[in-house]
Amino acid sequence: MKISVVIPCYNEQESIGLFYNEMCSVSEEMNHEFEFIFVNDGSRDNTLAIIKELREKDSRVKYISFSRNFGKESAIYAGFSKASGDYVVMMDADLQDPPRLLPEMMKYINQGYDSVATRRVTRKGEPPIRSFFARMFYKVINKISDVDIVDGARDYRLMTAQMKDAIVSMKEYNRFSKGIFGWVGFQTKWLEYENVERVAGETKWNFWKLFLYSLEGIIAFSTVPLVLASMFGIIFCLLAFAMILFIVVRTLAFGDPVAGWPSMVCIIFLIGGIQLLCIGIIGQYLSKTYLETKKRPKYIIKDTNI
Ligand code: UDP
Ligand code: MG
Repeated sequence: MKISVVIPCYNEQESIGLFYNEMCSVSEEMNHEFEFIFVNDGSRDNTLAIIKELREKDSRVKYISFSRNFGKESAIYAGFSKASGDYVVMMDADLQDPPRLLPEMMKYINQGYDSVATRRVTRKGEPPIRSFFARMFYKVINKISDVDIVDGARDYRLMTAQMKDAIVSMKEYNRFSKGIFGWVGFQTKWLEYENVERVAGETKWNFWKLFLYSLEGIIAFSTVPLVLASMFGIIFCLLAFAMILFIVVRTLAFGDPVAGWPSMVCIIFLIGGIQLLCIGIIGQYLSKTYLETKKRPKYIIKDTNI
Protein backbone atom coordinates (compact mmCIF):
# COMPACT_ATOMS: atom_id res chain seq x y z
CA MET A 1 0.00 0.00 0.00
CA LYS A 2 1.39 3.36 -1.02
CA ILE A 3 1.03 6.68 0.80
CA SER A 4 1.34 9.91 -1.18
CA VAL A 5 2.50 12.87 0.90
CA VAL A 6 1.62 16.22 -0.63
CA ILE A 7 3.71 19.16 0.59
CA PRO A 8 2.92 22.69 -0.63
CA CYS A 9 6.07 24.81 -0.43
CA TYR A 10 6.36 28.56 -0.81
CA ASN A 11 9.75 30.01 0.12
CA GLU A 12 10.55 27.14 2.46
CA GLN A 13 14.29 26.72 1.86
CA GLU A 14 15.03 26.60 5.60
CA SER A 15 12.36 24.05 6.46
CA ILE A 16 12.39 21.55 3.60
CA GLY A 17 15.55 19.74 4.70
CA LEU A 18 14.31 19.43 8.27
CA PHE A 19 10.93 18.26 7.05
CA TYR A 20 12.46 15.66 4.77
CA ASN A 21 14.65 14.19 7.53
CA GLU A 22 11.71 13.95 9.91
CA MET A 23 9.49 12.45 7.22
CA CYS A 24 12.14 9.86 6.32
CA SER A 25 12.56 8.67 9.88
CA VAL A 26 8.79 8.30 10.20
CA SER A 27 8.52 6.44 6.89
CA GLU A 28 11.16 3.95 8.02
CA GLU A 29 8.99 2.98 10.95
CA MET A 30 6.04 2.25 8.71
CA ASN A 31 5.41 -0.70 6.42
CA HIS A 32 4.30 1.40 3.51
CA GLU A 33 5.65 2.49 0.21
CA PHE A 34 5.92 6.29 0.04
CA GLU A 35 5.87 9.06 -2.51
CA PHE A 36 6.66 12.66 -1.55
CA ILE A 37 5.08 15.21 -3.85
CA PHE A 38 6.62 18.63 -3.23
CA VAL A 39 4.61 21.37 -4.88
CA ASN A 40 6.77 24.45 -5.37
CA ASP A 41 4.27 27.29 -5.40
CA GLY A 42 6.40 29.85 -7.25
CA SER A 43 9.03 30.24 -4.52
CA ARG A 44 11.55 33.02 -4.99
CA ASP A 45 14.29 31.36 -2.93
CA ASN A 46 16.17 28.08 -3.31
CA THR A 47 13.22 25.83 -2.57
CA LEU A 48 13.14 24.17 -5.99
CA ALA A 49 16.91 23.59 -6.05
CA ILE A 50 16.73 21.93 -2.64
CA ILE A 51 13.86 19.70 -3.74
CA LYS A 52 15.82 18.69 -6.83
CA GLU A 53 18.82 17.82 -4.64
CA LEU A 54 16.61 15.55 -2.55
CA ARG A 55 15.36 13.97 -5.73
CA GLU A 56 18.95 13.05 -6.74
CA LYS A 57 19.35 10.78 -3.72
CA ASP A 58 15.75 9.64 -3.22
CA SER A 59 13.58 8.47 -6.09
CA ARG A 60 10.46 8.73 -3.90
CA VAL A 61 10.74 12.52 -4.16
CA LYS A 62 8.58 14.06 -6.86
CA TYR A 63 7.99 17.68 -7.59
CA ILE A 64 5.62 19.99 -9.37
CA SER A 65 6.84 23.53 -9.87
CA PHE A 66 4.41 26.35 -10.69
CA SER A 67 5.15 29.24 -13.02
CA ARG A 68 4.27 31.70 -10.24
CA ASN A 69 2.68 31.78 -6.78
CA PHE A 70 -0.85 30.40 -7.14
CA GLY A 71 -1.60 29.97 -3.44
CA LYS A 72 -1.72 26.99 -1.12
CA GLU A 73 -5.15 25.85 -2.32
CA SER A 74 -3.89 25.47 -5.88
CA ALA A 75 -0.81 23.66 -4.61
CA ILE A 76 -2.96 21.17 -2.70
CA TYR A 77 -5.13 20.63 -5.76
CA ALA A 78 -2.11 20.02 -8.02
CA GLY A 79 -0.60 17.57 -5.54
CA PHE A 80 -3.87 15.67 -5.14
CA SER A 81 -4.37 15.50 -8.91
CA LYS A 82 -0.98 13.85 -9.38
CA ALA A 83 -0.99 11.61 -6.30
CA SER A 84 -0.96 7.93 -7.18
CA GLY A 85 -1.00 6.41 -3.69
CA ASP A 86 -3.74 4.32 -2.08
CA TYR A 87 -3.73 6.93 0.67
CA VAL A 88 -2.99 10.60 0.44
CA VAL A 89 -1.86 12.92 3.21
CA MET A 90 -1.27 16.63 3.02
CA MET A 91 1.32 18.32 5.22
CA ASP A 92 2.88 21.76 5.60
CA ALA A 93 6.61 22.01 4.97
CA ASP A 94 7.25 23.83 8.24
CA LEU A 95 6.67 20.77 10.50
CA GLN A 96 3.57 22.38 12.01
CA ASP A 97 1.83 19.22 10.85
CA PRO A 98 4.00 16.70 12.71
CA PRO A 99 4.80 13.64 10.52
CA ARG A 100 5.10 11.80 13.87
CA LEU A 101 1.30 11.54 13.94
CA LEU A 102 1.19 9.55 10.74
CA PRO A 103 1.43 6.01 12.20
CA GLU A 104 -1.44 6.77 14.58
CA MET A 105 -3.49 8.24 11.73
CA MET A 106 -2.87 5.13 9.67
CA LYS A 107 -4.15 3.01 12.54
CA TYR A 108 -7.57 4.65 12.30
CA ILE A 109 -7.66 4.24 8.52
CA ASN A 110 -7.05 0.54 9.05
CA GLN A 111 -10.00 0.54 11.45
CA GLY A 112 -12.21 1.61 8.58
CA TYR A 113 -12.27 5.41 8.69
CA ASP A 114 -12.09 7.13 5.30
CA SER A 115 -10.09 10.02 6.62
CA VAL A 116 -8.21 11.10 9.71
CA ALA A 117 -8.07 14.83 10.30
CA THR A 118 -6.24 16.88 12.88
CA ARG A 119 -7.21 19.86 14.92
CA ARG A 120 -5.13 21.85 17.32
CA VAL A 121 -6.66 22.41 20.70
CA THR A 122 -4.49 25.38 21.60
CA ARG A 123 -3.46 28.39 19.59
CA LYS A 124 -0.21 28.85 21.50
CA GLY A 125 2.25 31.18 19.80
CA GLU A 126 -0.41 32.99 17.80
CA PRO A 127 -1.20 36.70 18.27
CA PRO A 128 -4.32 37.00 20.51
CA ILE A 129 -6.19 39.23 18.04
CA ARG A 130 -5.69 36.65 15.33
CA SER A 131 -7.01 33.87 17.59
CA PHE A 132 -10.02 35.98 18.50
CA PHE A 133 -10.98 36.62 14.89
CA ALA A 134 -10.31 33.01 13.95
CA ARG A 135 -12.72 31.86 16.68
CA MET A 136 -15.34 34.39 15.51
CA PHE A 137 -14.97 33.16 11.95
CA TYR A 138 -15.64 29.54 12.91
CA LYS A 139 -18.66 30.54 14.98
CA VAL A 140 -20.14 32.56 12.12
CA ILE A 141 -19.47 30.12 9.32
CA ASN A 142 -20.88 27.18 11.26
CA LYS A 143 -24.09 29.14 11.87
CA ILE A 144 -24.59 30.12 8.25
CA SER A 145 -23.26 27.14 6.34
CA ASP A 146 -24.47 23.57 5.93
CA VAL A 147 -21.04 22.00 5.94
CA ASP A 148 -19.34 21.38 9.24
CA ILE A 149 -16.15 23.40 9.57
CA VAL A 150 -14.30 22.49 12.74
CA ASP A 151 -12.59 25.19 14.83
CA GLY A 152 -8.83 24.74 14.87
CA ALA A 153 -8.93 22.15 12.09
CA ARG A 154 -5.72 22.01 10.12
CA ASP A 155 -5.39 20.95 6.53
CA TYR A 156 -3.24 18.04 7.81
CA ARG A 157 -5.35 15.08 6.83
CA LEU A 158 -4.84 11.49 5.75
CA MET A 159 -7.47 10.05 3.44
CA THR A 160 -8.22 7.19 1.12
CA ALA A 161 -7.74 7.52 -2.63
CA GLN A 162 -11.52 7.40 -2.95
CA MET A 163 -11.96 10.53 -0.88
CA LYS A 164 -9.07 12.24 -2.65
CA ASP A 165 -10.75 11.53 -6.00
CA ALA A 166 -13.95 13.09 -4.69
CA ILE A 167 -12.01 16.21 -3.71
CA VAL A 168 -10.25 16.39 -7.08
CA SER A 169 -13.63 16.07 -8.80
CA MET A 170 -14.65 19.38 -7.21
CA LYS A 171 -13.26 21.63 -9.86
CA GLU A 172 -14.22 25.01 -8.46
CA TYR A 173 -11.74 27.83 -8.94
CA ASN A 174 -12.32 29.54 -5.60
CA ARG A 175 -11.16 26.77 -3.32
CA PHE A 176 -11.65 26.62 0.44
CA SER A 177 -10.27 23.25 1.49
CA LYS A 178 -11.69 23.17 5.01
CA GLY A 179 -15.14 23.44 3.46
CA ILE A 180 -14.44 21.05 0.60
CA PHE A 181 -13.21 18.34 2.99
CA GLY A 182 -16.44 18.68 4.95
CA TRP A 183 -18.63 18.85 1.85
CA VAL A 184 -17.46 15.54 0.33
CA GLY A 185 -18.50 13.75 3.50
CA PHE A 186 -17.02 10.31 4.34
CA GLN A 187 -16.25 9.14 7.83
CA THR A 188 -13.66 11.27 9.52
CA LYS A 189 -11.78 10.65 12.75
CA TRP A 190 -10.50 13.79 14.50
CA LEU A 191 -7.15 13.74 16.27
CA GLU A 192 -6.25 16.56 18.63
CA TYR A 193 -2.82 17.92 19.29
CA GLU A 194 -1.09 20.92 20.80
CA ASN A 195 -0.13 23.68 18.39
CA VAL A 196 3.45 23.41 17.16
CA GLU A 197 5.32 26.50 16.02
CA ARG A 198 7.02 26.48 12.62
CA VAL A 199 10.63 25.23 12.66
CA ALA A 200 12.15 27.85 10.39
CA GLY A 201 11.21 30.65 8.03
CA GLU A 202 8.15 32.84 8.35
CA THR A 203 4.41 32.41 8.04
CA LYS A 204 3.06 33.36 4.61
CA TRP A 205 -0.19 34.69 6.03
CA ASN A 206 -0.84 38.14 7.35
CA PHE A 207 -4.05 39.40 8.89
CA TRP A 208 -5.41 40.87 5.66
CA LYS A 209 -4.76 37.68 3.65
CA LEU A 210 -6.50 35.62 6.33
CA PHE A 211 -9.44 38.02 6.35
CA LEU A 212 -9.87 37.70 2.57
CA TYR A 213 -9.51 33.92 2.84
CA SER A 214 -12.26 33.80 5.47
CA LEU A 215 -14.57 35.79 3.16
CA GLU A 216 -13.75 33.27 0.46
CA GLY A 217 -14.85 30.50 2.81
CA ILE A 218 -18.12 32.20 3.67
CA ILE A 219 -18.99 33.00 0.06
CA ALA A 220 -18.00 29.54 -1.17
CA PHE A 221 -20.06 27.65 1.41
CA SER A 222 -22.98 29.84 2.33
CA THR A 223 -25.58 32.01 0.63
CA VAL A 224 -26.87 33.40 3.92
CA PRO A 225 -25.32 36.87 3.29
CA LEU A 226 -27.60 37.15 0.24
CA VAL A 227 -30.63 36.26 2.34
CA LEU A 228 -29.48 38.84 4.86
CA ALA A 229 -29.42 41.48 2.14
CA SER A 230 -33.01 40.66 1.18
CA MET A 231 -34.02 40.73 4.87
CA PHE A 232 -32.62 44.24 5.28
CA GLY A 233 -34.67 45.26 2.25
CA ILE A 234 -37.89 43.83 3.64
CA ILE A 235 -37.38 45.29 7.12
CA PHE A 236 -36.76 48.76 5.75
CA CYS A 237 -39.79 48.60 3.43
CA LEU A 238 -42.04 47.68 6.35
CA LEU A 239 -40.52 50.43 8.45
CA ALA A 240 -41.07 52.96 5.67
CA PHE A 241 -44.73 51.96 5.29
CA ALA A 242 -45.31 52.36 8.99
CA MET A 243 -43.63 55.76 8.92
CA ILE A 244 -45.67 56.95 5.92
CA LEU A 245 -48.85 55.94 7.66
CA PHE A 246 -47.81 57.71 10.84
CA ILE A 247 -46.84 60.92 9.03
CA VAL A 248 -50.03 61.04 6.93
CA VAL A 249 -52.21 60.58 9.99
CA ARG A 250 -50.22 63.13 11.99
CA THR A 251 -50.33 65.72 9.17
CA LEU A 252 -54.11 65.31 8.81
CA ALA A 253 -54.62 65.67 12.54
CA PHE A 254 -52.08 68.36 13.50
CA GLY A 255 -50.91 70.04 10.25
CA ASP A 256 -47.28 70.08 9.06
CA PRO A 257 -44.80 72.40 10.80
CA VAL A 258 -41.47 72.19 8.90
CA ALA A 259 -38.85 70.40 10.97
CA GLY A 260 -36.66 67.33 11.03
CA TRP A 261 -33.79 68.13 8.70
CA PRO A 262 -31.05 66.45 10.84
CA SER A 263 -33.09 63.31 11.38
CA MET A 264 -33.74 63.16 7.62
CA VAL A 265 -30.01 63.23 6.86
CA CYS A 266 -29.36 60.45 9.39
CA ILE A 267 -31.99 58.26 7.77
CA ILE A 268 -30.61 58.91 4.28
CA PHE A 269 -27.12 57.99 5.46
CA LEU A 270 -28.28 54.83 7.20
CA ILE A 271 -30.33 53.54 4.30
CA GLY A 272 -27.65 54.56 1.78
CA GLY A 273 -25.10 52.63 3.80
CA ILE A 274 -27.24 49.54 3.98
CA GLN A 275 -27.88 49.70 0.23
CA LEU A 276 -24.16 49.89 -0.47
CA LEU A 277 -23.52 46.98 1.90
CA CYS A 278 -26.10 44.83 0.13
CA ILE A 279 -24.78 45.74 -3.31
CA GLY A 280 -21.34 44.83 -2.00
CA ILE A 281 -22.56 41.42 -0.86
CA ILE A 282 -24.14 40.74 -4.23
CA GLY A 283 -20.94 42.00 -5.87
CA GLN A 284 -18.87 39.48 -3.92
CA TYR A 285 -20.96 36.58 -5.19
CA LEU A 286 -20.99 38.00 -8.69
CA SER A 287 -17.22 38.39 -8.78
CA LYS A 288 -16.72 34.79 -7.66
CA THR A 289 -19.21 33.63 -10.27
CA TYR A 290 -17.34 35.71 -12.86
CA LEU A 291 -14.07 33.98 -12.03
CA GLU A 292 -15.71 30.55 -12.09
CA THR A 293 -17.23 31.11 -15.52
CA LYS A 294 -13.84 31.94 -16.98
CA LYS A 295 -12.72 28.39 -16.23
CA ARG A 296 -9.10 29.41 -15.88
CA PRO A 297 -6.68 26.68 -14.86
CA LYS A 298 -6.02 26.62 -11.11
CA TYR A 299 -2.27 26.51 -11.68
CA ILE A 300 0.32 26.44 -14.44
CA ILE A 301 3.18 23.96 -14.25
CA LYS A 302 6.61 25.11 -15.31
CA ASP A 303 8.65 22.08 -14.32
CA THR A 304 7.80 18.63 -12.99
CA ASN A 305 9.05 15.06 -12.88
CA ILE A 306 5.66 13.33 -12.60
N1 UDP B 1 2.09 27.88 1.16
C1 UDP B 1 1.98 27.75 -0.22
N2 UDP B 1 1.61 28.83 -0.97
C2 UDP B 1 1.30 30.04 -0.40
C3 UDP B 1 1.38 30.15 1.01
C4 UDP B 1 1.78 29.05 1.76
O1 UDP B 1 2.23 26.68 -0.77
O2 UDP B 1 0.98 30.96 -1.13
C5 UDP B 1 2.50 26.71 1.98
C6 UDP B 1 3.68 26.97 2.89
O3 UDP B 1 4.91 26.74 2.21
C7 UDP B 1 3.47 25.96 4.00
C8 UDP B 1 1.96 25.88 4.08
O4 UDP B 1 1.45 26.38 2.85
O5 UDP B 1 3.98 24.68 3.68
C9 UDP B 1 1.41 26.65 5.26
O6 UDP B 1 1.86 27.97 5.22
P1 UDP B 1 2.27 28.76 6.55
O7 UDP B 1 3.08 27.87 7.43
O8 UDP B 1 2.91 30.03 6.13
O9 UDP B 1 0.86 29.05 7.18
P2 UDP B 1 0.49 28.98 8.75
O10 UDP B 1 0.97 27.64 9.25
O11 UDP B 1 1.19 30.11 9.38
O12 UDP B 1 -1.00 29.10 8.76
MG1 MG C 1 2.81 26.97 9.15
